[in-house]
Amino acid sequence: MSKEQDRSYEAQQTVCPYCGVGCTLEYAGNEKATGTEGPVNKKSEVCPKGVAAFDIVTHEGRLTEPLVSEDGEFTAVSWETAMDRIEAELTTIVDDHGADAVQFFASSNCTNEENYIFQKIARMLGTNNVDNCARMCHSSTVAAMSERFGAGAMTNSLGDMMETDCLLVAGANPAEQHPVIFRSYLLPAIRDGATLIHIDPRENDTTDAADIHLPVRPGHDIQLLNAITAVLLEEDLVDEDFIEERTTGVEEFRDQFDDADIEAGAEAAGVDPDRLREAARAYATAEAATIITGMGMSQHTSGTDNVRALLNLALLTGNVGRPGTGVNPLRGQNNVQGAGDVGALPNIFPGYEPVTDAEARERVAEEWGVEPPGEPGMTEVTATHHFGDEIRAAVVFGENPAMTEPDANSVSDAFDELDFCVVIDLFETETAAHADVLLPGSSWAEKSGTVTNTDRRVMRMRPNADLPGNSRRDLDILCELGSRLLDSGSFAYEGPSEVFDELTRVSPIYAGMSYDGIGEGCQRWPYPADAEEGVDILHTDEFANGEQQAPLMPVAPTPPADSVGDDQLVLTTGRVLAQFNSGALTRRSQTLTMMRGEDVLEIHPEDAEERGIEDGETVVVENERGGVTVTADVTATIQRGVVFCTFHYTEPLANAVTGGELDPVAEIPEYKHSAVTVTPAE
Ligand code: SF4
Repeated sequence: MSKEQDRSYEAQQTVCPYCGVGCTLEYAGNEKATGTEGPVNKKSEVCPKGVAAFDIVTHEGRLTEPLVSEDGEFTAVSWETAMDRIEAELTTIVDDHGADAVQFFASSNCTNEENYIFQKIARMLGTNNVDNCARMCHSSTVAAMSERFGAGAMTNSLGDMMETDCLLVAGANPAEQHPVIFRSYLLPAIRDGATLIHIDPRENDTTDAADIHLPVRPGHDIQLLNAITAVLLEEDLVDEDFIEERTTGVEEFRDQFDDADIEAGAEAAGVDPDRLREAARAYATAEAATIITGMGMSQHTSGTDNVRALLNLALLTGNVGRPGTGVNPLRGQNNVQGAGDVGALPNIFPGYEPVTDAEARERVAEEWGVEPPGEPGMTEVTATHHFGDEIRAAVVFGENPAMTEPDANSVSDAFDELDFCVVIDLFETETAAHADVLLPGSSWAEKSGTVTNTDRRVMRMRPNADLPGNSRRDLDILCELGSRLLDSGSFAYEGPSEVFDELTRVSPIYAGMSYDGIGEGCQRWPYPADAEEGVDILHTDEFANGEQQAPLMPVAPTPPADSVGDDQLVLTTGRVLAQFNSGALTRRSQTLTMMRGEDVLEIHPEDAEERGIEDGETVVVENERGGVTVTADVTATIQRGVVFCTFHYTEPLANAVTGGELDPVAEIPEYKHSAVTVTPAE
């Protein structure tokens, strides 16, 4: 592959490497980034993470040489030596155990082209064992929405959220986690009179702008959503015409709610029944109401059912397929949407076509010359449970599963059970510490390609900084890996635009796009071949699966995996404004570390008093899986019985106490409900 084609030190536009909002940044080589007018941030606005994005590019801890582990010590080697070792080890493992003995961890922080090539390598080798961290954030949302609507992405655009009359924000805190969406799209709607209903166990910055706060008990979302559903039915707040035309199963659905006890449901969920009725009425009587959902809903063993229950609300009230309506998951990393779009998931090909679909396999085979396997592969959390037996090797591309997966101590031990592990990253992360070969990749400022933001917009990144030392561009590394493991002809690309061209041929939802057509703007999927533009609002006349009607489905509550003992509290984890994901990048930013350098455990004053805990005191949070120490933040913004901390830090490593039980459909872990004891540290 050639080196990048469009690098220069003129100021260039690219996309922020952090969250799924997709703000446009402008920067010249090795200088600070600034926000500039883009498709999403129309007034050049960015949040602190965007401002600090360059901190990691020039960080002195960047990996600069390929490293090979010998007796637990890394030694710098040439690229030839490192790639020879990877080729030999993976070839032997595939020969001895089959391609399904290798697990591929794709990266939602890398481009569409890189993720497309990554899953192509896995599938051409003969395995669908490829997954990305969407597994841990929104796989249950995608499962539920795909099942009912035929597409797992935001139904509407950010722009048309400004036309809404009611925002039902469930399990998300966009004021901190998606700040540009909150300030530039949601707040204007609220100031224009839209009602904000916030379902969240904590009071946070989003709650400050809310008209109604429903402080749900973690793990009791279905009781709450079913009680709202019962109010809609009891008070005849449903849209009969929409139900008739666009849904099925309404009679059976109504039957399930005949004897519903709304007050008991609200109380089980920990909310005031009158406030719940008020919320139901506000949502149902709004001309246009939108649901915005996040990981507070999805990260449960009942995550798929939680989202199914949300979808019932939208279908009953006719809030689908019109401006200002819909069900809109806010995606986390800057290309978590795209990583799924291009097939870095074990059950689907690029464009969300099931691997079990023979026609889809044939179409992929026409492009690749090899038919990919037809059985879904292993999800990434489940794979770690099989490290050392079914799974003998892992290829980890720009992810940090040793820190981000639940029950992290066990996952860390499991990595040591592998015969071989290769990691491609910028830094020696917690996962990289387990690597046999560690390859120095490229940061966001050193690469081009496309990423897809939370409202399905594909935008281009542009390189404008020198690669440090002997590090290489990720796409070059992956293409060499593919050439060595398979055949060079399948991975000989002139650059990302040629990969994107292939992607448009393989993925029907990107079929009408072009790299040049995206330019400095964006193109939105679905963008059918020969269309003049992408589709802003999904499911208008029919659902994305081609059906005119979607089923209404009653959902029964199921208990969280962890039962909570008398002396225990429920730990729920989340994010803050100045840090991001595992913190592998943001904890290396001086700016962001100055803003939020360490974690705290939010605990209610009465829970703290019962345990003899003072504000600012160090406490131990533990259960049978592990324990961490952290500073207590005694605050009434968290409800009684619940404690909160983030998952951004190694100390405390919150995932040392989260559990490995999974949602049965999406295999997403229950990060939002872990039983823990909290005691003063000795
Ligand atoms: Fe980057 Fe997200 Fe902040 Fe925009 S809102 S600057 S995309 S982190």
